[in-house]
Amino acid sequence: MGSDHSSPKSIHTHWEELFKRLPREGVSAVWPTEAACRTRFIEVRWPDGVTCPACASKETGHLGKRHTFYCKACRHQFSAQSGSVAHRSHVALQLWFVAAEMIIRSRANFLGADGPSGHDLKDRLGISYSAAYKLKKLIVGELLQPGGGLVGECILTKDTGDGCEERPRTPEDEIKELEALILRANRRQ
Ligand SMILES: [Zn+2]
Repeated sequence: MGSDHSSPKSIHTHWEELFKRLPREGVSAVWPTEAACRTRFIEVRWPDGVTCPACASKETGHLGKRHTFYCKACRHQFSAQSGSVAHRSHVALQLWFVAAEMIIRSRANFLGADGPSGHDLKDRLGISYSAAYKLKKLIVGELLQPGGGLVGECILTKDTGDGCEERPRTPEDEIKELEALILRANRRQ
């Protein structure tokens, strides 16, 4: 595996591959609440069950409403995000998911562009510019990893490689695809 990311073209191919795996109904339709995003994040991060980031024990418990886990082996307390790319982030996971979708859409459609800008993200997500800038940097770092990293795994459908779609296309899909086609056509002129 290990795709070559040294040229702008191969980086662009990477973004296009991620784009093809975005859920057609949009990330916020699939994971509409913070709770849904957190559940998804936990499932992807720990597919074999919540694991202590300090000692790797699977003997963990839950401390209720504050969404804190504790380790029965070493007593470490941690959240879903502790020790991950989203460690100590004050930005909701829901906004991480939406920002990642925006970044993939933007980069797959504009060859060589590094959008969306920090200002675009700030306006769309309703967070400060510095939070948006930092979020973009962290998410891009994840998404550039093979398969899209932890953030990519959270929001993208599995790459089956055979082009099979699990869900029939909707009119909204067709509009999105048409928009993407127009953008690509304009780019090539
Ligand atoms: Zn532990």
